[in-house]
Amino acid sequence: MFLVCHPRREGARRCPCGAFARAVHERLGPRRWRDLPVLGQAAVLEHSPARVACRRCGRRRVERLPWAGPRQRETERLRRQLALDAASMPASHVALRAGVSWRAVRRAELELLERWERTLEGRPGPRALGVDEKYLGRRGKGGQRFVTVVSDLGSGAPLGFELGRDAAALERLLARLPAEALARVEVVATDLHAPFAAAIRRHPRLARAVIVHDPFHVLQRANAALVELWRAALARGCAKGLGSTQGTSLALRTAPERLSAAARGRLARVLRHVPELGQAYTIAQRLRAALTHRDGRTLLRGFERALTELRRLEAPALVSLRRCLEQHAAGIRALARERPAVGRIEALNNNLELLVRLGRGHRDYGFLFRKLRFVVATAMYRDGGAARYRAAGVPLPPKGVGTVPRKRRAKAKPKTRGAPTSASGAPATRKRPAKARSGR
Ligand SMILES: [Zn+2]
Repeated sequence: MFLVCHPRREGARRCPCGAFARAVHERLGPRRWRDLPVLGQAAVLEHSPARVACRRCGRRRVERLPWAGPRQRETERLRRQLALDAASMPASHVALRAGVSWRAVRRAELELLERWERTLEGRPGPRALGVDEKYLGRRGKGGQRFVTVVSDLGSGAPLGFELGRDAAALERLLARLPAEALARVEVVATDLHAPFAAAIRRHPRLARAVIVHDPFHVLQRANAALVELWRAALARGCAKGLGSTQGTSLALRTAPERLSAAARGRLARVLRHVPELGQAYTIAQRLRAALTHRDGRTLLRGFERALTELRRLEAPALVSLRRCLEQHAAGIRALARERPAVGRIEALNNNLELLVRLGRGHRDYGFLFRKLRFVVATAMYRDGGAARYRAAGVPLPPKGVGTVPRKRRAKAKPKTRGAPTSASGAPATRKRPAKARSGR
């Protein structure tokens, strides 16, 4: 069942070129446009458009309609709502809910992206860039299991994607970015992946930028060394009867304050039992405290101390950790001066993961990238989602149920029966004058 509305024309007909058209060339049969539901009912607009003879462009075209463009089957406001919903719902679900095709949803999304991207033109480029890799696993393409992502750490929005994670992949990606996007960059935050640093150093515009290694990746590397040390102890058989090995690996990788009291107790027993691991754990925690410290001098002192202590230990896992830290020391020390918002890199990764899962995988990486940029830049947690509604051109619905207008409340008071109360009050909804009937 549909609620069918017949819009009434106000003013003269117009040609799609914008000119008023006085002469109707031909009347066409009735057509329908899917619209937003009304009071829980599926609704359509029904109208018989005319083909007009235009004096300005000299053509005979179907008149311009205020609710939809030529050849569209949905009204503009429905398309905007579809695009908004598809930012946080699988497209197939949006299509089903609105009673339109999946393609109609995708078209609406593309329109929104194009509209929104035009508003970005001419904005100054970022000061801080983030470079990271993302594991795609079997979702990768052409044997590539990783994708390199470059993002603006100011807004958190991605600037580009490229399959692969070697220097060549990053170089290809940077070469594709417009010159303005890199003109203001002073800081580049990367993980401890040497090829990325090499590619940045070779880039003509980024060569002088400060490379910073974000604490997250440094600490991840340190935690990996702890787990390796624990596995080596297990292999030597000196960790018998210490409980779940999986649980210990996880506890070693988790910040102590996030462990339960029981887990902390179990971990303490393991650390006492394997002294080498105990020592390494203390160093790793010191490193963590240093790298996440606000004060630059405390950070530097803590980092140097951790390095000195590591030099005294000879386990292969720790030697390779020390070499890694020494190799990337400049980028880690730079943290004392530069603190780019590296948390945004991880937030971006999470958003990417979410979109891929929502879409049950994406084959079109170009579209995925554009959508990701939109979703990140108009995050719903900021200003109550207003930015995304604004970008989509959908008015935010008023909150609550509102109040009954004063005039009608006064009329309802006298308890005289049969008084017509509904006819005199202000109409609850302002709708376009329309004749409504239901039909199919
Ligand atoms: Zn015209």
